[in-house]
Amino acid sequence: MKILILNAGSSSQKSCLYDMTSPIPNLAPQPLWEGKINWTENQNQAEITVKTATGAKLQETIAGDSRQVQFTHLLSTLTNGETKVIDDLAAIDVVGHRVVHGGQDYQEAVIITEKVKQAIAHLCNLAPAHNPAALSGIEAIENSLGNIPQIAVFDTGFHRTLPEAAAIYPIPYNLVEAGIRRYGFHGISHQYCAKRAAEILGQDLQSLRIITCHLGNGCSLAAIKNGCSIDTTMGFTPLDGLMMGSRSGSIDPGILIYLLQKYNYSSQKLDNVLNKSSGLKGISGVSSDLRAVIAAKDQGNQRAQLAWDIYVHRLRAGIGTMLASLQGLDVLVFTAGVGENSPAIRQAACEAWGFLGLKIDSAKNHQKPIDIDIATSDSTVRVLVIETQEDWAIAQQCWKLLQQ
Ligand code: ADP
Repeated sequence: MKILILNAGSSSQKSCLYDMTSPIPNLAPQPLWEGKINWTENQNQAEITVKTATGAKLQETIAGDSRQVQFTHLLSTLTNGETKVIDDLAAIDVVGHRVVHGGQDYQEAVIITEKVKQAIAHLCNLAPAHNPAALSGIEAIENSLGNIPQIAVFDTGFHRTLPEAAAIYPIPYNLVEAGIRRYGFHGISHQYCAKRAAEILGQDLQSLRIITCHLGNGCSLAAIKNGCSIDTTMGFTPLDGLMMGSRSGSIDPGILIYLLQKYNYSSQKLDNVLNKSSGLKGISGVSSDLRAVIAAKDQGNQRAQLAWDIYVHRLRAGIGTMLASLQGLDVLVFTAGVGENSPAIRQAACEAWGFLGLKIDSAKNHQKPIDIDIATSDSTVRVLVIETQEDWAIAQQCWKLLQQ
């Protein structure tokens, strides 16, 4: 079965094509084809990169701002030129989408219907950087591939097991009843990493208390017990919790009231400031990319140093919250762009827990670990760096749904 996966992020659309045969492994196989559209700062062009399992590569810049045109071009690389892997787009059996917000009604993978599309659209204001992108991917597939079955896998789904004490905000109860609660995000990644951690350690997932640190442009933590999410840092929207690339994470809600009253901020301005101009970018003034912030800090830039210090402070505090929910810890997992690639962040996060006997091996931490335990042999907690495989996890869920 050929399955095309679309993973719509805030600044990119990643996609890949898998050829799936039973039995389905947990460890991701290499996709036949991987394509990415990067929406650059220049709205009028997009960068497209493609690579195939056989080593063919393509890099192009597409002019214009039509997502449909960019998307159609990306799909054409599946059937044309050096990156061709199938004769016809009709060879694709099903398309799976990562959808960030599924709200209360969509907690499991579902076949996309008009009703599901409306629900995703309805939730756009809760995940403004992501749900609209997923929706445009679904519509682009409809335009290019017609009536092919499409499946939505929700990032909120894994957190459906949050206990009420962790999920419910202390606000008037009628607002709770109106659906204002912690949903949590990055669930596809947290769930995959927890399973993979148990596999790497050769232990039963049900017996492990795990904290997964998904640190990318967006950052969140999950506390996982018996294989289920019992706490997480993102909330009603992906703006809650840790400091991120350009998102503030948790701030005193009184600040919002102050900005509304004192500076007449519109809701759109608040949205823009907190989602796009805060976090590492807002504090450092350098970039939302941690690599650039570290480089500036190392050259003596004081605001970059402050951005780093806040990021580490909040990451440690978040881990502390997850620890309290788990009442102990067997495994700490680092994943996503920062988690997988920054030894300095892993070291800084782990240092705080030395008093619990958590120790990492500095050499292992610096040797570009992938799916490896970087803790010392006498550490009381295993520390894993896991390459997140959201696309494969989506493909697995689509396969499972189609078998039912
Ligand atoms: P997304 O959340 O958009 O999926 P990723 O998980 O790919 O993003 O993470 C992207 C981020 O990872 C970049 O913005 C960058 O800050 C960070 N990153 C990548 N490599 C490194 C590195 N070597 N050191 C520090 N940060 C890195």
